[in-house]
Amino acid sequence: MAHPIAPAAVTTPAITPLSVRAVAPWALFFGVLLLTVLYFVGAEQGATSLISGESVHEWVHDGRHLLGFPCH
Ligand SMILES: [Zn+2]
Repeated sequence: MAHPIAPAAVTTPAITPLSVRAVAPWALFFGVLLLTVLYFVGAEQGATSLISGESVHEWVHDGRHLLGFPCH
């Protein structure tokens, strides 16, 4: 006799592998996005500042310390 709460047969859905050609634009997009965020967290202040004032620095200040960028 089968166990009354035996799990049903587990079927895995068919997974179709993605081609590099399909993934490349997304990888490029998220790479550029990552570098942009990394710039604003790590280097947006002082001489290299794109946006004047301290607002960007204040918004990303904790992330800056978390990632170990030199700060103050
Ligand atoms: Zn700091």
